[in-house]
Amino acid sequence: MNNFDNNVKKGGISVDTEHIFPIIKKWLYSEKDIFLREIVSNAADAITKLKRLGSLGIREDQGEEYRITVTLDEEAKTLTVSDNGIGMTEEELTKYICSIALSGAVDFIKKYENEAESSKNGIIGHFGLGFYSAFMVSSSVEVLTRSYTDAPAVHWVCNESGEYESSLSERDTHGTDVIMHISEDEREYLSASKIRAMLEKYCSFMPIEIYFDDGSEKKEGDEEKPVNDVHPLWQKSPSECSDEEYKEFYSKVFRDFKEPLFHIHINADYPLNFKGILYFPRFANDYEAMEGQVKLYYNQVFVADNIKEVIPEYLLVLKGVLDCPELPLNVSRSYLQTNSYVSKVSAHIVKKLADRLNYLCANERENYESIWKDICPFISYACMKDKKFYDRVKGSLLLPLTSGGVMTYSEYLESAKEKNENTVYYATDKDLQAQYISMFTAEGINVALFERPIEAQFSTMLEHYMEGVKFVRVDAEIAESLKGDGETTENEELKALFLKVSGNEKLNVKFDALKNADIPALLNISEETRRMDEMMKFYGMGDISALPNDSSLVLNTASPLINKLADAASSDPEKAEMIASFIYKVSLLSQKKFSAEEMQSFIGDSFDILMKL
Ligand code: ADP
Repeated sequence: MNNFDNNVKKGGISVDTEHIFPIIKKWLYSEKDIFLREIVSNAADAITKLKRLGSLGIREDQGEEYRITVTLDEEAKTLTVSDNGIGMTEEELTKYICSIALSGAVDFIKKYENEAESSKNGIIGHFGLGFYSAFMVSSSVEVLTRSYTDAPAVHWVCNESGEYESSLSERDTHGTDVIMHISEDEREYLSASKIRAMLEKYCSFMPIEIYFDDGSEKKEGDEEKPVNDVHPLWQKSPSECSDEEYKEFYSKVFRDFKEPLFHIHINADYPLNFKGILYFPRFANDYEAMEGQVKLYYNQVFVADNIKEVIPEYLLVLKGVLDCPELPLNVSRSYLQTNSYVSKVSAHIVKKLADRLNYLCANERENYESIWKDICPFISYACMKDKKFYDRVKGSLLLPLTSGGVMTYSEYLESAKEKNENTVYYATDKDLQAQYISMFTAEGINVALFERPIEAQFSTMLEHYMEGVKFVRVDAEIAESLKGDGETTENEELKALFLKVSGNEKLNVKFDALKNADIPALLNISEETRRMDEMMKFYGMGDISALPNDSSLVLNTASPLINKLADAASSDPEKAEMIASFIYKVSLLSQKKFSAEEMQSFIGDSFDILMKL
């Protein structure tokens, strides 16, 4: 297959090249940028191998500065990646670059020819064809390499059909230059900003310093700075990292200048063997897109952005980096979705998040309370989706209170032990339900505040999780401790009067002597009725603004007004009806927002009463 002519060797990559070259060009189209990652990570590997020979004592360390240089020459239309790594002898070049084991790859390609784009993207990495990805953007590729041994340097050139020439050559030091002659129709890869962005995306944390020479003139005094950080924070031990460093890393990687709420640094040992830092972001407002972002790395080499598969769907709000050397460098979504290692990683992340929340609750309570409002909906959602997660964090779930404070559920239940055992009273609207809330707080009963629908939904779920505990909205029933010792006498006349003015024949008119004598009447809708009603409305059944018919009007027999009304009912029925109607409307006001008509009639009634002056 090889022709020998004056020490110049000619050849074709293999009988299968005719298959592989067009395929490389066509199938990796959507992720062309990856070629740079492949070539730069080969360079980093070559340097790592040389360093290892030094540390094994096979080669004497020359104290050299290891580096990778990416050089863009717009005029020559070349992009070059140079390293001072292990290099290749002629024999190695032939073995590793010229005679790649393509047969397996070709079979694979044939088999999956009709598959979805996503599964094809794994092919190049799968068969160690990374080097050939250079042909996605190049019309020809040159390699100038010199082994760290005494072997002479080799120069190799290959065109886009896979025909190559190689000859012995010269190179100053050991290492390799891969010179890519960018094709006419891939000119975007001759743009410095494009290459810089690609280096930033794929190579930001590679373990060997990478310098980018974009061809622009250097000014004197300009300090040469690598484009990457060879010691990314996730590689350090959490005890060596400061809060400042975590925040800085976050804003740099995610370009989010709002401080994250908290972070989790994971350093999982064998068999999981992965590292990472995950952040709980801070959102500017409720309307901001709440999508997190997890970047996946393979030994500091960027693999993919926004990997949804490695964390459960209910934690997608997290942002962070994961370095999983156990996963192949080129992974496809479908691979991740069905991989059992991935599900173990995901479970480990959930456990770590739970540990972190428990730690914050136990050790940094003040800080934890201050972020609770922001994280509460997500944590509630996560608990609803995953009972195991709930079991892990249940001791650290906080209940926001109408007083502005917060309590854990066990703290609340402990405080409720004497007055309302196993019942959590809650409000969903501090303003609308102010009257009810004040009655409870006057009795020293804490009222939880569930302002977001998910919190109330979560409480329904908690009734299943926490045996015997009930959640009752403040306007659902009169708690025993709100009742005084006064006598409660039923008054049939008043009952009939209120049934009439309410226009609701199903209204359940009850009598109770409340401790608070200032309140004449309260409208209650039982917890079950209200929940059922809300569900019906959620599914589009029933009138959104109407209250369920099945409601109770509690007339407070301790109220002087009710007592006066009882007298008036027989002495001045007309006046009594007017007052009863007004009392009913006032009690309605605490249950729902009035419609325009209701408001008008209420205002009309108010003036009528004032006319009695
Ligand atoms: P992979 O890196 O997955 O093995 P590649 O096609 O990228 O597959 O590279 C094939 C082989 O070529 C590498 O394993 C390595 O031995 C050799 N090689 C590639 N680039 C370099 C380089 N810059 N320096 C030394 N050897 C290299």
